[in-house]
Amino acid sequence: MSRREAILAEMGLAPVWRLRKRPAGETKADSGWIPLKAAVSGCTACALHKSRTQTVFGVGDEDADWMLIGEAPGAEEDRLGDPFVGQAGRLLDNMLAAIGLERGRNVYIANVLKCRPPGNRNPEPEEVARCTPHLLRQIELVRPKLIVAMGRFAAQTLLDTDASIASLRGRLHRYAGVPLIVTYHPAYLLRTLPDKAKAWADLVFAKKTMAGL
Ligand code: SF4
Repeated sequence: MSRREAILAEMGLAPVWRLRKRPAGETKADSGWIPLKAAVSGCTACALHKSRTQTVFGVGDEDADWMLIGEAPGAEEDRLGDPFVGQAGRLLDNMLAAIGLERGRNVYIANVLKCRPPGNRNPEPEEVARCTPHLLRQIELVRPKLIVAMGRFAAQTLLDTDASIASLRGRLHRYAGVPLIVTYHPAYLLRTLPDKAKAWADLVFAKKTMAGL
């Protein structure tokens, strides 16, 4: 093991280093995106397929260092097929711009669920269990350096906890071997303006963490 690998291992980051290595000879085209997109668009693994207009796969740079994960598509996302559109999406874009990031440039955005729960209700555990393999495969393919979980549902699902956002913020967690930081969902911030300052602090923390990875 090299000194760099030893340091990464000591920091608990060695799995990420391995995850980010694309197998020799593998190109983007045959890296698994095409079959995964086909699997998601035709997925009938849970009852949400019956009420969706279309699946909402994810969007952005497929080789991104940053991966942002939200909850599930809403009405607009279900209609358009992209995550984080509308007012919450605009807020997210502004938040990204504030730390020098841009949707689609070194950033990939996805949700835990790929189909809209009717009436924007909370996802059911069974739906999450059925959809999680799609998300895990996305993470494997993107090979992000850092995941930002946006909102209580994404954070609790990815970290397998019922702890509050307040108690999960400000610390470095890990999901599937990848460092993970928790922050508020942009839709929540639209309703709760005072927490925007906390979300800003989370993004600054994320940016500093990324700089050290
Ligand atoms: Fe499949 Fe996920 Fe859609 Fe359920 S929510 S049908 S598991 S893609």
